[in-house]
Amino acid sequence: MNASDLLLHLNNQQRVAVSAPREHFLVLAGAGSGKTRVLSYRIAWLIEKEKFSPQSIIAVTFTNKAAKELRERVRDLIGINQSDMWIGTFHALSHRFLCSNHMHANLPRDFQILDPDDQLRLLTHLMKGMNIDQKKMEPRQGVWYINDKKEKGLRPGHLTKSFCQVDQIWLRIYKVYQETCDRSGLVDFTELLLRVCELWHCKSEILSHYHKQFTNILVDEFQDTNALQYSWIRALSGEQSKVVIVGDDDQSIYGWRGAQTKNMQQFFKDFPSATTIRLERNYRSTLNILKAANTLISNNNDRLGKELWTKASDGEPILLYCALNAFDEARFVVNCIQLWEKDRKSLCDCAILYRNNSQSREVEEALVQKNIAYQIYSGIRFFQRKEIKDSIAYLRLIVNRNDDVAFERIVNTPRRGIGPHTLETLRQISYQRKITLWMASLELLQNEALSVHVAASALKRFIQLIDSLEALTTNMPLYMQTECILQDSGLWCMYSKEKNEKDQTRIENLEELINTTRQYYSHHSKDTDFVSLKSFLAQSSLDINIANGIQSQDSVQLMTIHASKGLEFSQVFIVGMEEGIFPSQFALKENHRLEEERRLAYVGITRAMKRLMLSYVKNRRIYGKEVSYPLSRFVKEIPDACIKKLHFHFQEKQLIEYKDKNNKGVMHDSGFSVAQRVRHVKFGEGVIMHITGYGEQTRLQVDFRKKGVKWLLAMYAMLEAR
Ligand code: ATP
Ligand code: MG
Repeated sequence: MNASDLLLHLNNQQRVAVSAPREHFLVLAGAGSGKTRVLSYRIAWLIEKEKFSPQSIIAVTFTNKAAKELRERVRDLIGINQSDMWIGTFHALSHRFLCSNHMHANLPRDFQILDPDDQLRLLTHLMKGMNIDQKKMEPRQGVWYINDKKEKGLRPGHLTKSFCQVDQIWLRIYKVYQETCDRSGLVDFTELLLRVCELWHCKSEILSHYHKQFTNILVDEFQDTNALQYSWIRALSGEQSKVVIVGDDDQSIYGWRGAQTKNMQQFFKDFPSATTIRLERNYRSTLNILKAANTLISNNNDRLGKELWTKASDGEPILLYCALNAFDEARFVVNCIQLWEKDRKSLCDCAILYRNNSQSREVEEALVQKNIAYQIYSGIRFFQRKEIKDSIAYLRLIVNRNDDVAFERIVNTPRRGIGPHTLETLRQISYQRKITLWMASLELLQNEALSVHVAASALKRFIQLIDSLEALTTNMPLYMQTECILQDSGLWCMYSKEKNEKDQTRIENLEELINTTRQYYSHHSKDTDFVSLKSFLAQSSLDINIANGIQSQDSVQLMTIHASKGLEFSQVFIVGMEEGIFPSQFALKENHRLEEERRLAYVGITRAMKRLMLSYVKNRRIYGKEVSYPLSRFVKEIPDACIKKLHFHFQEKQLIEYKDKNNKGVMHDSGFSVAQRVRHVKFGEGVIMHITGYGEQTRLQVDFRKKGVKWLLAMYAMLEAR
């Protein structure tokens, strides 16, 4: 598309923003008004009209998915593939800066990223080694402490000794943690940003190089930046740089993680010439959905104030379903999706959103039962799965022997006779001598200090295994290397021996990993093997959807509302609209938290383009107890005229008809029937909700009063009829 054509697909306000003279400015606008669109067109405009090189532009997004979409939008607009453009999340971009300058940042060439799970694991091990009572001081709190300090730019050396004893211990832990990370060449997520800021601060020649390079800085979802991210942007902008930020104060949902809307005010202080451009037309949703969102958010006091209008018609009313229980709610959602599918509409246009990850369970079970494909964001993601992490840990240790986290993970996986005692000895040596576990192992073997001969030879075999895997696979393409490692490490064999369903899935996931590395290799075959492996490992830690290979099937999208930011779907379900769930229990008493929850509701509602379904549950089981929460205030704040209510009787009647038609009250050949009350030795009393299969394959879905919904094989369940 040439430059003047670019402006044809924009409204007046958007056009002003896209073609504005090169100055600092803020695009402030509500949901679905085209902020991200403006950002992508602005990038295209800078390249096509202003003739800036793609390398002069850096654009920061909030999620990897958003980065990928932005890159694709720009590619579609300018017609050329710019895969090496600087478009990414703060984390991914920081990683790139550190890779190019690892020596100046005091990092080894093969440094690795520590994801939040691994960070917690490492801290747990370290605290164990330091003999700290983990009941009194939880490692999770330690992670918060450390990340909080890093977000404020504070290193252990900056922190003065506190009079509070607990704080002193945390400080000691922080120090040990940081020393271990530095020794192991590990960089956690917050560290990625902090290191970059420190690098720029200490090495002015590097910073001025980037100042000259990045004359255009663009930031999406600016309202959710925290202090460290803001300093990052501020530091990167040089005299020639122009900063464009886009955001919506009504969608600020990361206050709990330190994000500050006051960064918007700070922006005007730091860039006094900056102006504001407002967009007011919503292109995404029907009038009903927009009215609901506008009215809801007007209940917040702390707002900059914006209006959104649309030319769209009313559209369908928002459906509000009152479910009997969580199980019924899930069934309702799945029924609606089945109807949607019958109309030959794509599953990926449907999203199911919830406040907490734990709410996905019932919905998932119902989807599995009806054989509907789905994909979860931010639940257990592919690279977070145990078997994948095990495999990746081998790759990591081969690249970097000092990676203590990888070492701990696989030293005895599969089991090779290296028990807790040996590990404890290694940890002690590592802690006392300030060396990595790998080095501690070598030392231990050299001094023949291990009293048990068997343990020593097992440890020796492990060291040899890693060394020989490196020698064997160094010049192999990534996918062959992965395959070879899976075989020789014994992981493949370990997972194939088990015959249950879960392990079968694990094997499938390992196969998927090989596929993924193969695709990755074909996209990056021009890189050397080392570069290719290293960037693959970094991307897996940052959970970037490598080569799009994973889950490409048309599937329903499940995610928390937090994760849905910036996205849009034709049909959106928000489940669990109850006081105590959404708004969450913790937000009920504090006004500022309640306002943040309301902004989250605003984000959820405004994801919907055509159809929005809200649901709540009459009786919910939480920690084994039946509770009955009232309808969420956020639903009550939506004008009645926008909503149509559906009650569970409607569903129940349908269900009974269905049951009569299909089961005719006849018992299944297993001797059980739907709605029958049963008792299980371990799980207690429950009601049969579904029966599938026949004979030995009969599976029962039972809703246990105390233990929730479970699928059981009738043959082994030993259920007693009540
Ligand atoms: P959010 O606040 O949720 O991030 P946003 O302001 O970034 O939303 P976009 O995602 O850029 O909004 O745009 C919302 C939808 O409206 C997209 O489908 C986009 O393509 C469409 N859209 C925006 N502007 C126009 C326009 N001028 N003409 C046609 N469609 C548009
Ligand atoms: Mg957006």
